[in-house]
Amino acid sequence: MSKAIPEPVTRLIDALSALPGIGPKTASRLTYFLLRAPDKLSQNLSEALRDLKARTRLCSVCYNITVDDPCPICADERRDKRTIAVVEEPLDALALERTGVFQGVYHVLHGAISPVQGIGPDDLKIRELVQRAQGDVLEVIIATNPGMEGDATAMYIHRELQRKGLKLTRLARGLPTGGDLEYVDSVTLLRALQGRNLMG
Ligand code: ZN
Repeated sequence: MSKAIPEPVTRLIDALSALPGIGPKTASRLTYFLLRAPDKLSQNLSEALRDLKARTRLCSVCYNITVDDPCPICADERRDKRTIAVVEEPLDALALERTGVFQGVYHVLHGAISPVQGIGPDDLKIRELVQRAQGDVLEVIIATNPGMEGDATAMYIHRELQRKGLKLTRLARGLPTGGDLEYVDSVTLLRALQGRNLMG
């Protein structure tokens, strides 16, 4: 980066460039936009960024991102604690939530098994899931993303959870392969949820 650019400016450009979907060009544009914009805007942004990590944590039951522990879904008396939908990311839980029909609770893995990226079962909240499923859980819906990593994760979980009396299901095919649940429209997701298949 040119020496003509002051350090605080390059610092923000570099920080923004590290975000997914933001290249150096967009990062520069955003940074110069903030320089021109009213002070209030950068203040809000910096406060929001600070609070993001400081005021959130993982729910000790489902590992979703939450302010209160347990999270509002786990704390909700009306949710069926015997049905657990296993998802890769918090946004996937949100996508299922948007269908408006799922009455169970979630378990967020925080990723998927990926030998290429060096992510193994121990890097995910799988042991916690196995622990949880030992209670009076009746069904575990494996709602990992369609695609190689999601399938590998589903297979691993299936192996770990197989026991008498526990129903293991997987979202129906028909979801776009390689796409994340968060990008699937609610109608398609609802159909995949309702048509979920029993895993052998
Ligand atoms: Zn929770």
